[in-house]
Amino acid sequence: MKLSLVVPCYNEEANVPLFYETVRQDFSAAGFDYELVFVNDGSSDGTLRALQTLCAEADCPVKVIDFSRNFGKEAAMYAGLAEAEGDYVTIIDADLQQRPAIALEMVRMLDAQPEIDCVAAYQEDRRESKALVFFKNAFYRLINRFSDTEFVQGASDFRTMRRPMAEAVLRMDEYFRFSKGLFSWVGFRTEFIPYRAQERASGQSKWSFWKLFKYALEGIFAFTTAPLRVATVIGLITSVLSVIYLFVVIFQKLIFGIDVEGYATIVVLILLLGGIQLLCIGIIGEYIARTYIQTKKRPIYITKRKYKNDK
Ligand code: UDP
Ligand code: MG
Repeated sequence: MKLSLVVPCYNEEANVPLFYETVRQDFSAAGFDYELVFVNDGSSDGTLRALQTLCAEADCPVKVIDFSRNFGKEAAMYAGLAEAEGDYVTIIDADLQQRPAIALEMVRMLDAQPEIDCVAAYQEDRRESKALVFFKNAFYRLINRFSDTEFVQGASDFRTMRRPMAEAVLRMDEYFRFSKGLFSWVGFRTEFIPYRAQERASGQSKWSFWKLFKYALEGIFAFTTAPLRVATVIGLITSVLSVIYLFVVIFQKLIFGIDVEGYATIVVLILLLGGIQLLCIGIIGEYIARTYIQTKKRPIYITKRKYKNDK
């Protein structure tokens, strides 16, 4: 098997047959064999039925992993990678925003250049609001500054890897998965190609601003412990400043005889320091919570059933 297409699906009922047709057309002249690995990530619509029908009717090998509930795209990608058997593995969305024709291009690049291990797509120009672009820029600057892992802005999960890289990603079996970081952490040589995301063929995107924000925090907590140092740094600075201020107060009293008036200062300082302390405890809490959940070693996903045709 040359290529596995791993396709996470969450409420993609209408897109599944469309996706299959597009792949069939685009790959008809490719001249190699490929399989489709769908993961039904706890969809509440008829996605599973669509996948079962496809599994029965498709003329290429199709596998369907049906999750017991919604575990998220990260878990779905992991499950798909685990089932994929191809020498190359492509991760691609079901909504046709990422055109299968580009996956073919990726395969050609890997064929032509043995020195690269992965071809990933990144979105060149996105039609996004200014505020979102601002937050995204800030996030990438922040995480690249503090993490040893490199995060490429606009890089998507849409990529084709050689088997050794896919297996390396599978070895990273942590519960809190932030694939952009994992793909980069495992190393290997990745080539980036620009692509323009298409409109969703049907259905709705599952990303809201709040979800993106939580996802960004997930990335930060998973790939750098720098926030933990915030407490140390702020603590150091406040301590130094306090000592300086202490001397100022003593001199004022002894030399100039000024009594220190300070009700406002004290209230502000108490509130400020209290706030900073709570923030730092919160940050520590985030790491402890993740450590706690990771130590339970819960599975990343649970499969209800697998389907497979015998093509
Ligand atoms: N997806 C998934 N589980 C989820 C959310 C999304 O498997 O909990 C799948 C979804 O079906 C699609 C892909 O992940 O194939 C990307 O999702 P979406 O289109 O909502 O994201 P966007 O393209 O807007 O980034
Ligand atoms: Mg999409």
